[in-house]
Amino acid sequence: MQTKDLLQLSEEFGSPLYVYDAAKIQSQYTRLTNAFSKVGSLRINYAVKALSNISILKLLKELGSGLDTVSIQEVQLGLYAGFEPEKIIYTPNGVSFEEIEAAAHLGVQINIDNLSVLEHFGAKYPSIPVCIRINPHVMAGGNANISVGHIDSKFGISVHQMPHLLRIVENTGMNINGIHMHTGSDILDIEVFLYAAEILFDTAKHFSNLEFLDFGSGFKVPYKKDDIETNIEELGKKLSKRFNAFCNEYGRELTLAFEPGKFLVSEAGFFLAKVNVVKQTTSTVFAGVDSGFNHLIRPMFYGSQHHIENISNPKGKERFYSVVGYICETDTFANNRRIAEIKEGDILCFRNAGAYCFSMSSNYNSRFKPAEVLWYEGKGHLIRERENFDDLIRNQVIVEFDKSYELVSKN
Ligand SMILES: *Cc1c(COP(=O)(O)O)cnc(C)c1O
Repeated sequence: MQTKDLLQLSEEFGSPLYVYDAAKIQSQYTRLTNAFSKVGSLRINYAVKALSNISILKLLKELGSGLDTVSIQEVQLGLYAGFEPEKIIYTPNGVSFEEIEAAAHLGVQINIDNLSVLEHFGAKYPSIPVCIRINPHVMAGGNANISVGHIDSKFGISVHQMPHLLRIVENTGMNINGIHMHTGSDILDIEVFLYAAEILFDTAKHFSNLEFLDFGSGFKVPYKKDDIETNIEELGKKLSKRFNAFCNEYGRELTLAFEPGKFLVSEAGFFLAKVNVVKQTTSTVFAGVDSGFNHLIRPMFYGSQHHIENISNPKGKERFYSVVGYICETDTFANNRRIAEIKEGDILCFRNAGAYCFSMSSNYNSRFKPAEVLWYEGKGHLIRERENFDDLIRNQVIVEFDKSYELVSKN
């Protein structure tokens, strides 16, 4: 996918616009499966919350992926996209028991991360196999908001609660068919990951009926030049070897599962926005675009640094800019960034806009959500229309007031 293609898509479909490169999603998928080619049975469950457009789900289905879901609605989206229930794992946290029951009735793999829920579910549905999410208390990742394995985390059943967990399983006679961990996003250090994996193996030994071990995700992808990324190939080599040895000890071939979101779609995504104003102040030059944190919240929310390119003037002389959005409160995409000289009307391209970008967008300031386009074999395909005014008022129930401030309900 080239700069000129992106520029042409912004003309064809307008701005702001999300564009996803199918070839990049495919190559990341293949990279991951190649890294673990020595494992007899591998399952990739794409984490739907990263980017949940149905066409993206269908693309991943064609590649052979399953799905990792965290809400009943994501389960429904997956089924709607044509996934078999057996290819979907449901890993909720803090949801109602009724929602877990509803997912179980849809036939998806249930993953439980709380002892009280496990006890309740086991007592009521002893014959439905359940995976348990453990918390190995291994700290991975840089940003506190996306680290989920640490001691204060709300996720998973602590490995220190094993005796209690085993008692519940014994008392209910339930069938534990998988063990899961997800230590959080942005794993830099493979040794830390392997250390957490040992804890998962230790836990697994307590259960005789396992079918799979799920190592979650959290692979780090590069955001800017020279950024460190998880070395998937090295992780594949080391973990595959250890996993195969474990299966030997265990006496049965298990499936090794991962559930990457960011790794599969982050780099495939481009966010295009048009520069409305260039504003020289006493301290900086602002480039204000026709979007804001309503469409791409990660810089404001996590401090993430998306590389920004001026695709209307890619060869221009570089200058320093603060790139800001139009939301009426602090709305900064980037501070003091070197970008090729910007003129009003230019199109800026934000990189790594595939994961947690559109899926976290909102209508704040009563703006429409952008359109989404899939770039597939040299052509752009619209996969979500830009919102319009009807979308803003669709669910509103309007009451009227008469001249004496009486509410005159139409219902
Ligand atoms: C969010 C999430 C993932 C995906 O994480 P990435 O960092 O996007 O790869 C995987 N598993 C679970 C349970 C999650 O909540």
